[in-house]
Amino acid sequence: MRFGVFSDIHANLVALQAVLQDMGPVDQYWCLGDVVGYGPSPNECVQALLDLDHVLVMGNHDAAAVGVLSPRDFNGEARRALEWTARTLARDSMAYLKAAPEQLTRGEILLVHGSPREPLWEYITNVEQAQGNFAVTENPYTFIGHTHVPLVFLLDREGHALSGTPEDGMLLRLAGERMLINPGSVGQPRDGDPRASYAIVDNEQMHVEFHRVEYDIPETQSAMKAMGASPWLMERIAYGR
Ligand code: ZN
Repeated sequence: MRFGVFSDIHANLVALQAVLQDMGPVDQYWCLGDVVGYGPSPNECVQALLDLDHVLVMGNHDAAAVGVLSPRDFNGEARRALEWTARTLARDSMAYLKAAPEQLTRGEILLVHGSPREPLWEYITNVEQAQGNFAVTENPYTFIGHTHVPLVFLLDREGHALSGTPEDGMLLRLAGERMLINPGSVGQPRDGDPRASYAIVDNEQMHVEFHRVEYDIPETQSAMKAMGASPWLMERIAYGR
């Protein structure tokens, strides 16, 4: 079976639609959290997920938008966007986000937003953090989001964590070594490439494909302008920073 894996939509409906179209049909969609926050279309993004056969784990922005975390734990720009999101989310969108678990397994694969040891908060950006998370889990493969940067950590046969950056179109073999796999962000990429990012897992071929797709950034920016987003938030999506 093939599974579409993506994270950090951040209420960017235009980017989400581009990803779904580019991905084509899959058996199920796995969303790694942060459906909302920063972007202009929180209810529309929730509805787009509800239209799909999918699973969702909770992200830190989702948690803050629905009152599980406090927006005060976020920096100024993120906090203001979260307060707007909390005011804008329909009651049923809010109930849906609030019901998302912090972790899920699909077969032997673990899904989590930040990290296995701190599902809502930890950013896994280096091999030391990866090593610490390999130590507290047994799943062969874990998908993570939260950093908005596509990245793969692998535990080699000597027990050392290594990292590598997956390029657009790359095929990663799932050949037995344990891995932490980040598919990047749909709506707010931060690796310097503004294109939306996602992955497809094939559990029969045992591989992961990484993909980037262009979307209409000015369309999202004009919707952000209408919600009163800061110029900095609007500009950064054009640079992928
Ligand atoms: Zn995020």
